[in-house]
Amino acid sequence: MKHQQRGLAQGFEGMKPAILVVDMINDFVSGVLGSERSARIVPNIQGLLRYARGEGVPIIYVTDAHLPEGDREFDIWPRHAVEGSEGAQVVDELEPEAGDHRIKKRRYSGFYATGLDGLLREFGVDTIVLTGLVTNICIQHTAADAFFRGYRVVVPRDCVEAPTDEAQRASLSYIEQMYGAEVTSSEALMKGGLLGEG
Ligand code: ZN
Repeated sequence: MKHQQRGLAQGFEGMKPAILVVDMINDFVSGVLGSERSARIVPNIQGLLRYARGEGVPIIYVTDAHLPEGDREFDIWPRHAVEGSEGAQVVDELEPEAGDHRIKKRRYSGFYATGLDGLLREFGVDTIVLTGLVTNICIQHTAADAFFRGYRVVVPRDCVEAPTDEAQRASLSYIEQMYGAEVTSSEALMKGGLLGEG
């Protein structure tokens, strides 16, 4: 069956969503791995979170928290997001509020060696809305792990970003085709009351 573009309200009736905010931390937005491309999704995520809080949708921040020394990722990337450092803090504009949840990770996937799956099950969540960075790295790997575990995946494309337009397009297409994800926009999610009860 062809996966169709549609509103969550129609397509995912009875769903129990949670919003994941992945790696919207200083080092990825303005620091060592930061870019203007990354910064430009901040207001879109802000809007979606404001809406989600109003609807009582759980919000889970999933962020890098690397070992100070010897972290395997530093064989590949510049040293970044060391646990407890300024660089590992969520950007001010998206600061978690009371009632939001936090998960720390040391690999690309938010599920790998973390308590994310247990937390989602605690809330009865069956659908994850992925926002944050980087589309073709942590978002894509988290989408894969979500699919493997039986979650539905929704990606508002204006709330994720990759280093290039081509990488963004290719990754979103892969996520859509391989994991049956709903690739949509934050506006569509909010407009249709798509994350609410109705
Ligand atoms: Zn990392």
